[in-house]
Amino acid sequence: MTAPSLLAVFAHPDDESLMSGGVLARHAAAGARTAVVTATWAPGTGRAAELADATRILGADEPRLLGFADARVPDSAPGEPRFLDAPLDEAVRRLVAHIRDVRPDIVVTHDAYGGLTGHPDHVHTHRVTVLAAQAAGLEQLYPEAGAPWQPRALYLATHPHAAVAALSDVVGESRAVHSVPDAWVTATVDVRPWLDQKVAAVLAHRSEVARGAVPALIAALAPESRARLLSTEWYIRHHLGPAAGDQSELTAGPWPVNPVDPDREP
Ligand SMILES: [Zn+2]
Repeated sequence: MTAPSLLAVFAHPDDESLMSGGVLARHAAAGARTAVVTATWAPGTGRAAELADATRILGADEPRLLGFADARVPDSAPGEPRFLDAPLDEAVRRLVAHIRDVRPDIVVTHDAYGGLTGHPDHVHTHRVTVLAAQAAGLEQLYPEAGAPWQPRALYLATHPHAAVAALSDVVGESRAVHSVPDAWVTATVDVRPWLDQKVAAVLAHRSEVARGAVPALIAALAPESRARLLSTEWYIRHHLGPAAGDQSELTAGPWPVNPVDPDREP
């Protein structure tokens, strides 16, 4: 059995390393192809160059940029709309083209909250990726964006409630506000063997370290706190493509039907 190829779709340069640096390094080490699509920041910017350093450290392909502007940094993609303001079809089409080009077994992205911080670019990346991961397999959608390719699963990078107390210790209460019920998590990945690579990839985002963003917080932590914060990744799996498992929710039955109450208001 070979490791499934993996395409990670995240909002900003640094999210790939912070959220999924462990599985990216793990799958690359197993010989799988791994690639990263980043929704915001244009080619030629400093952040794009730092992203290329991070993906090299993680063993992934050259990063692929959708090229939209960061919600809070209009200069991040001169002449392009903010990702949040871009026409939905155009954003989905650009991502479908990358999925069809990479042909990954698995797509990874932000959860529906947009992770702990709930940044609006993260939430929007989740939404666009959910649409694109399905559209990529359908030949009549975006036919100009390449031959259809259906990834078999979408994994949402998330945090269970149980993990958040330990994390907010490290990152501060105010940053850690969105987490999901523990039972929603389908994969808890111990990424300790790839922790050094993951940390190095986070710190490759030098301008984020310099401006005091989350990578700066990682840079300032003692090794044991870093390990506590970054050694585990959590994912929620959504099935895509050909049917699997019990699909009978709409066809099972007959179920008991509630009698109609004749006195009920219409
Ligand atoms: Zn981000």
